[in-house]
Amino acid sequence: MTAKILDGRAFAATIRSRVADHVRRLRDDHGLVPGLAVVLVGEDPASQVYVRSKGRQTAEAGMQGFEHLLAAETPEGELLDLIRRLNDDPRVHGILVQLPLPDHMDAAKVIDAISPDKDVDGFHVLNVGRLGTGQAAMVPCTPLGCVMMLRDHLGDMSGLDAVVLGRSNIVGKPMAQLLLAENCTVTLAHSRTVDLAGVIGRADILVAAAGRPRMIPGDWLKPGATVIDVGINRVPGAGDKTRLVGDVDFDSAVAVAGAITPVPGGVGPMTIACLLANTVTACCRINGLRLPEGLTP
Ligand code: NDP
Repeated sequence: MTAKILDGRAFAATIRSRVADHVRRLRDDHGLVPGLAVVLVGEDPASQVYVRSKGRQTAEAGMQGFEHLLAAETPEGELLDLIRRLNDDPRVHGILVQLPLPDHMDAAKVIDAISPDKDVDGFHVLNVGRLGTGQAAMVPCTPLGCVMMLRDHLGDMSGLDAVVLGRSNIVGKPMAQLLLAENCTVTLAHSRTVDLAGVIGRADILVAAAGRPRMIPGDWLKPGATVIDVGINRVPGAGDKTRLVGDVDFDSAVAVAGAITPVPGGVGPMTIACLLANTVTACCRINGLRLPEGLTP
Protein backbone atom coordinates (compact mmCIF):
# COMPACT_ATOMS: atom_id res chain seq x y z
CA MET A 1 0.00 0.00 0.00
CA THR A 2 1.20 3.53 -0.68
CA ALA A 3 -0.41 6.14 1.51
CA LYS A 4 -2.31 9.11 0.16
CA ILE A 5 -0.27 12.24 0.90
CA LEU A 6 -2.38 14.84 2.70
CA ASP A 7 -1.17 18.12 1.23
CA GLY A 8 -1.30 20.77 3.96
CA ARG A 9 -0.09 23.55 1.67
CA ALA A 10 -3.01 23.05 -0.73
CA PHE A 11 -5.55 22.65 2.08
CA ALA A 12 -4.24 25.76 3.88
CA ALA A 13 -4.72 27.70 0.62
CA THR A 14 -8.36 26.51 0.56
CA ILE A 15 -8.86 27.69 4.16
CA ARG A 16 -7.27 31.08 3.37
CA SER A 17 -9.57 31.50 0.39
CA ARG A 18 -12.63 30.65 2.58
CA VAL A 19 -11.35 33.25 5.07
CA ALA A 20 -10.93 35.88 2.34
CA ASP A 21 -14.49 35.18 1.05
CA HIS A 22 -15.91 35.61 4.54
CA VAL A 23 -13.87 38.77 5.15
CA ARG A 24 -15.36 40.22 1.94
CA ARG A 25 -18.88 39.36 3.11
CA LEU A 26 -18.27 40.93 6.53
CA ARG A 27 -17.06 44.13 4.88
CA ASP A 28 -19.79 44.32 2.22
CA ASP A 29 -22.75 43.26 4.39
CA HIS A 30 -21.77 44.63 7.81
CA GLY A 31 -18.99 47.21 7.27
CA LEU A 32 -16.67 45.10 9.45
CA VAL A 33 -12.96 44.40 8.92
CA PRO A 34 -11.62 41.60 11.15
CA GLY A 35 -8.47 42.77 12.95
CA LEU A 36 -5.63 40.66 14.35
CA ALA A 37 -3.07 42.09 16.79
CA VAL A 38 0.20 40.20 17.11
CA VAL A 39 2.54 41.03 19.98
CA LEU A 40 6.18 39.96 19.91
CA VAL A 41 8.47 40.55 22.89
CA GLY A 42 12.19 40.28 22.13
CA GLU A 43 14.09 39.39 19.00
CA ASP A 44 13.93 35.61 18.70
CA PRO A 45 14.68 35.07 14.96
CA ALA A 46 12.23 32.15 14.52
CA SER A 47 9.44 34.18 16.17
CA GLN A 48 10.27 37.20 13.98
CA VAL A 49 9.89 35.09 10.82
CA TYR A 50 6.61 33.65 12.12
CA VAL A 51 5.22 37.09 13.05
CA ARG A 52 6.14 38.54 9.63
CA SER A 53 4.42 35.63 7.93
CA LYS A 54 1.29 36.17 10.03
CA GLY A 55 1.30 39.88 9.14
CA ARG A 56 1.58 39.16 5.41
CA GLN A 57 -1.16 36.51 5.39
CA THR A 58 -3.47 38.74 7.47
CA ALA A 59 -3.16 41.50 4.85
CA GLU A 60 -3.60 39.06 1.95
CA ALA A 61 -6.87 37.85 3.50
CA GLY A 62 -8.16 41.45 3.53
CA MET A 63 -7.99 41.73 7.32
CA GLN A 64 -6.38 44.46 9.38
CA GLY A 65 -3.10 43.58 11.08
CA PHE A 66 -1.66 45.35 14.13
CA GLU A 67 1.94 44.48 14.98
CA HIS A 68 3.43 45.36 18.37
CA LEU A 69 7.15 44.71 18.67
CA LEU A 70 8.43 45.17 22.22
CA ALA A 71 12.02 45.10 23.45
CA ALA A 72 13.10 41.95 25.32
CA GLU A 73 13.55 43.91 28.55
CA THR A 74 10.00 45.41 28.48
CA PRO A 75 8.51 45.17 32.00
CA GLU A 76 5.64 42.68 32.32
CA GLY A 77 3.31 45.48 33.46
CA GLU A 78 3.80 47.30 30.15
CA LEU A 79 2.81 44.18 28.19
CA LEU A 80 -0.27 43.74 30.40
CA ASP A 81 -1.22 47.41 29.78
CA LEU A 82 -0.89 46.87 26.02
CA ILE A 83 -3.11 43.77 26.21
CA ARG A 84 -5.75 45.75 28.13
CA ARG A 85 -5.73 48.44 25.44
CA LEU A 86 -6.09 45.77 22.72
CA ASN A 87 -8.94 44.13 24.67
CA ASP A 88 -10.76 47.50 24.59
CA ASP A 89 -9.95 48.34 20.94
CA PRO A 90 -13.03 47.66 18.77
CA ARG A 91 -10.83 47.33 15.64
CA VAL A 92 -9.08 44.31 17.18
CA HIS A 93 -10.94 40.96 17.19
CA GLY A 94 -7.98 38.65 17.77
CA ILE A 95 -4.95 39.03 20.04
CA LEU A 96 -1.95 36.76 19.81
CA VAL A 97 1.06 37.07 22.08
CA GLN A 98 3.92 35.17 20.47
CA LEU A 99 5.43 32.55 22.78
CA PRO A 100 7.93 31.91 24.27
CA LEU A 101 8.11 35.09 26.37
CA PRO A 102 11.32 36.30 28.06
CA ASP A 103 12.10 34.64 31.41
CA HIS A 104 11.02 37.64 33.52
CA MET A 105 7.43 37.31 32.25
CA ASP A 106 4.79 34.90 33.52
CA ALA A 107 3.19 33.42 30.37
CA ALA A 108 0.11 32.14 32.24
CA LYS A 109 -0.58 35.61 33.67
CA VAL A 110 -0.11 37.23 30.25
CA ILE A 111 -2.46 34.75 28.52
CA ASP A 112 -5.01 35.22 31.30
CA ALA A 113 -5.02 38.97 30.61
CA ILE A 114 -6.25 38.45 27.03
CA SER A 115 -10.03 38.76 26.65
CA PRO A 116 -11.27 35.15 26.10
CA ASP A 117 -13.38 36.41 23.17
CA LYS A 118 -10.22 37.69 21.43
CA ASP A 119 -8.00 34.76 22.44
CA VAL A 120 -7.39 33.44 18.90
CA ASP A 121 -4.68 31.07 20.15
CA GLY A 122 -7.26 29.36 22.40
CA PHE A 123 -4.84 29.20 25.33
CA HIS A 124 -6.93 31.13 27.91
CA VAL A 125 -8.20 28.82 30.67
CA LEU A 126 -11.78 29.82 29.87
CA ASN A 127 -11.40 28.58 26.30
CA VAL A 128 -9.63 25.43 27.50
CA GLY A 129 -12.59 24.81 29.82
CA ARG A 130 -15.15 25.60 27.14
CA LEU A 131 -13.50 23.16 24.71
CA GLY A 132 -13.36 20.49 27.42
CA THR A 133 -17.04 20.91 28.23
CA GLY A 134 -18.26 21.02 24.64
CA GLN A 135 -19.09 24.73 24.60
CA ALA A 136 -18.29 27.19 21.81
CA ALA A 137 -14.58 27.94 22.33
CA MET A 138 -11.63 29.48 20.58
CA VAL A 139 -9.64 26.36 19.61
CA PRO A 140 -5.81 26.28 19.45
CA CYS A 141 -4.73 26.68 15.81
CA THR A 142 -2.55 23.58 15.29
CA PRO A 143 -5.07 21.02 16.58
CA LEU A 144 -7.83 22.88 14.73
CA GLY A 145 -5.81 22.48 11.51
CA CYS A 146 -5.33 18.76 12.23
CA VAL A 147 -9.03 18.10 12.81
CA MET A 148 -9.95 20.03 9.65
CA MET A 149 -7.55 17.84 7.63
CA LEU A 150 -8.92 14.69 9.25
CA ARG A 151 -12.52 15.69 8.55
CA ASP A 152 -11.67 16.54 4.98
CA HIS A 153 -10.05 13.14 4.45
CA LEU A 154 -12.20 10.84 6.61
CA GLY A 155 -15.56 12.58 6.96
CA ASP A 156 -17.34 10.92 9.89
CA MET A 157 -14.82 9.72 12.49
CA SER A 158 -17.36 8.16 14.90
CA GLY A 159 -16.09 5.04 16.64
CA LEU A 160 -12.56 5.22 15.22
CA ASP A 161 -9.63 4.55 17.55
CA ALA A 162 -7.52 7.70 17.76
CA VAL A 163 -4.14 7.95 19.45
CA VAL A 164 -2.60 11.33 20.22
CA LEU A 165 1.10 11.15 21.05
CA GLY A 166 2.04 14.11 23.27
CA ARG A 167 0.06 15.83 26.03
CA SER A 168 1.09 19.48 25.75
CA ASN A 169 -1.46 22.22 26.39
CA ILE A 170 -1.00 23.65 22.90
CA VAL A 171 -1.24 20.46 20.82
CA GLY A 172 -1.84 17.10 22.54
CA LYS A 173 -4.58 17.90 25.06
CA PRO A 174 -6.78 20.08 22.80
CA MET A 175 -6.27 17.56 19.97
CA ALA A 176 -7.62 14.80 22.23
CA GLN A 177 -10.66 16.96 23.10
CA LEU A 178 -11.39 17.65 19.43
CA LEU A 179 -11.18 13.95 18.53
CA LEU A 180 -13.45 13.12 21.45
CA ALA A 181 -15.93 15.66 20.08
CA GLU A 182 -15.71 13.77 16.75
CA ASN A 183 -16.82 10.63 18.69
CA CYS A 184 -13.46 8.86 18.41
CA THR A 185 -12.24 6.54 21.15
CA VAL A 186 -9.22 8.56 22.24
CA THR A 187 -5.95 7.49 23.85
CA LEU A 188 -3.55 10.23 24.95
CA ALA A 189 -0.02 8.77 25.00
CA HIS A 190 3.12 10.37 26.45
CA SER A 191 6.64 9.63 27.67
CA ARG A 192 5.41 7.35 30.48
CA THR A 193 3.12 5.28 28.24
CA VAL A 194 3.89 1.56 28.49
CA ASP A 195 4.07 -0.33 25.18
CA LEU A 196 3.79 2.70 22.92
CA ALA A 197 4.18 0.50 19.82
CA GLY A 198 1.19 -1.60 20.91
CA VAL A 199 -0.93 1.51 21.61
CA ILE A 200 -0.06 3.08 18.26
CA GLY A 201 -0.66 -0.24 16.49
CA ARG A 202 -4.37 -0.05 17.39
CA ALA A 203 -4.85 3.49 16.04
CA ASP A 204 -7.08 4.16 13.04
CA ILE A 205 -5.97 7.78 13.49
CA LEU A 206 -2.55 8.74 14.83
CA VAL A 207 -1.68 12.34 15.66
CA ALA A 208 2.02 12.50 16.53
CA ALA A 209 3.18 15.54 18.51
CA ALA A 210 6.17 14.44 20.58
CA GLY A 211 8.92 16.52 18.99
CA ARG A 212 11.18 13.47 18.53
CA PRO A 213 12.63 13.02 15.03
CA ARG A 214 11.28 9.93 13.22
CA MET A 215 10.57 8.09 16.48
CA ILE A 216 7.60 6.16 15.01
CA PRO A 217 8.63 3.56 12.42
CA GLY A 218 6.16 2.37 9.79
CA ASP A 219 5.89 -1.10 11.30
CA TRP A 220 4.30 0.37 14.46
CA LEU A 221 1.30 1.59 12.44
CA LYS A 222 -1.99 -0.16 11.85
CA PRO A 223 -2.21 -0.83 8.11
CA GLY A 224 -4.39 1.83 6.49
CA ALA A 225 -4.15 4.26 9.43
CA THR A 226 -4.50 8.00 8.89
CA VAL A 227 -1.35 9.67 10.22
CA ILE A 228 -1.12 13.35 11.09
CA ASP A 229 2.47 14.27 11.88
CA VAL A 230 2.66 17.50 13.87
CA GLY A 231 6.35 17.14 14.79
CA ILE A 232 8.81 19.63 13.36
CA ASN A 233 12.36 18.49 14.03
CA ARG A 234 15.55 19.85 12.50
CA VAL A 235 18.12 17.15 11.73
CA PRO A 236 21.45 17.12 9.85
CA GLY A 237 20.92 17.02 6.08
CA ALA A 238 23.24 16.81 3.08
CA GLY A 239 26.69 18.35 3.66
CA ASP A 240 26.50 21.07 6.29
CA LYS A 241 22.78 21.68 5.68
CA THR A 242 19.89 20.77 7.97
CA ARG A 243 16.41 19.59 7.07
CA LEU A 244 13.03 19.18 8.77
CA VAL A 245 11.52 15.81 9.62
CA GLY A 246 8.45 14.77 11.57
CA ASP A 247 7.94 12.42 14.50
CA VAL A 248 6.98 9.64 12.09
CA ASP A 249 9.53 7.93 9.86
CA PHE A 250 7.87 9.01 6.62
CA ASP A 251 9.71 6.62 4.27
CA SER A 252 8.64 3.46 6.12
CA ALA A 253 5.22 4.84 7.18
CA VAL A 254 4.14 5.69 3.65
CA ALA A 255 4.13 1.97 2.79
CA VAL A 256 1.77 1.09 5.70
CA ALA A 257 -0.50 4.09 6.35
CA GLY A 258 -3.65 4.83 4.37
CA ALA A 259 -2.92 8.56 4.41
CA ILE A 260 -0.15 10.68 5.90
CA THR A 261 0.87 14.32 6.21
CA PRO A 262 4.42 15.11 5.07
CA VAL A 263 6.90 17.27 6.99
CA PRO A 264 7.33 19.94 5.81
CA GLY A 265 4.14 20.73 3.90
CA GLY A 266 1.62 18.96 6.13
CA VAL A 267 0.29 20.41 9.38
CA GLY A 268 2.72 23.38 9.44
CA PRO A 269 0.98 25.55 6.79
CA MET A 270 -2.42 24.89 8.41
CA THR A 271 -1.52 26.66 11.66
CA ILE A 272 -1.47 30.26 10.35
CA ALA A 273 -4.47 29.55 8.09
CA CYS A 274 -6.39 28.50 11.23
CA LEU A 275 -5.24 31.62 13.06
CA LEU A 276 -6.89 33.69 10.32
CA ALA A 277 -9.98 31.48 10.54
CA ASN A 278 -10.11 32.00 14.32
CA THR A 279 -9.88 35.78 13.86
CA VAL A 280 -12.90 35.72 11.54
CA THR A 281 -14.74 33.48 14.04
CA ALA A 282 -13.91 35.91 16.88
CA CYS A 283 -15.10 38.89 14.80
CA CYS A 284 -18.42 37.12 14.09
CA ARG A 285 -18.96 36.08 17.72
CA ILE A 286 -18.11 39.54 19.09
CA ASN A 287 -20.61 41.10 16.68
CA GLY A 288 -23.32 38.45 17.21
CA LEU A 289 -23.14 37.24 13.59
CA ARG A 290 -23.57 33.75 12.14
CA LEU A 291 -20.30 31.78 12.24
CA PRO A 292 -18.43 31.13 8.99
CA GLU A 293 -18.99 27.68 7.51
CA GLY A 294 -15.92 25.44 7.13
CA LEU A 295 -13.77 27.53 9.46
CA THR A 296 -14.93 26.49 12.92
CA PRO A 297 -14.57 23.13 14.69
P1 NDP B 1 6.09 19.49 24.06
O1 NDP B 1 7.55 19.28 24.20
O2 NDP B 1 5.41 20.51 24.88
O3 NDP B 1 5.35 18.08 24.32
C1 NDP B 1 5.85 16.89 23.83
C2 NDP B 1 5.01 15.75 24.32
O4 NDP B 1 5.52 14.55 23.75
C3 NDP B 1 5.01 15.56 25.83
O5 NDP B 1 3.71 15.29 26.27
C4 NDP B 1 5.94 14.37 26.03
O6 NDP B 1 5.56 13.53 27.12
C5 NDP B 1 5.75 13.58 24.75
N1 NDP B 1 6.96 12.83 24.42
C6 NDP B 1 8.20 13.30 24.23
N2 NDP B 1 9.04 12.30 23.96
C7 NDP B 1 8.32 11.16 23.99
C8 NDP B 1 8.63 9.79 23.78
N3 NDP B 1 9.88 9.38 23.50
N4 NDP B 1 7.64 8.89 23.89
C9 NDP B 1 6.38 9.27 24.16
N5 NDP B 1 6.02 10.57 24.36
C10 NDP B 1 6.99 11.50 24.26
O7 NDP B 1 5.86 19.74 22.50
P2 NDP B 1 4.67 20.49 21.70
O8 NDP B 1 3.38 19.83 21.95
O9 NDP B 1 4.80 21.94 21.89
O10 NDP B 1 5.14 20.18 20.20
C11 NDP B 1 5.27 18.86 19.73
C12 NDP B 1 5.88 18.89 18.33
O11 NDP B 1 5.00 19.56 17.47
C13 NDP B 1 7.21 19.63 18.23
O12 NDP B 1 8.01 18.99 17.25
C14 NDP B 1 6.81 21.00 17.73
O13 NDP B 1 7.85 21.63 16.99
C15 NDP B 1 5.66 20.64 16.83
N6 NDP B 1 4.70 21.73 16.66
C16 NDP B 1 4.28 21.99 15.38
C17 NDP B 1 3.37 22.98 15.14
C18 NDP B 1 2.92 23.22 13.74
O14 NDP B 1 2.49 24.29 13.40
N7 NDP B 1 2.97 22.23 12.87
C19 NDP B 1 2.83 23.82 16.21
C20 NDP B 1 3.23 23.38 17.55
C21 NDP B 1 4.15 22.38 17.74
P3 NDP B 1 5.60 14.02 28.67
O15 NDP B 1 4.42 14.95 28.83
O16 NDP B 1 5.44 12.76 29.43
O17 NDP B 1 6.92 14.71 28.85
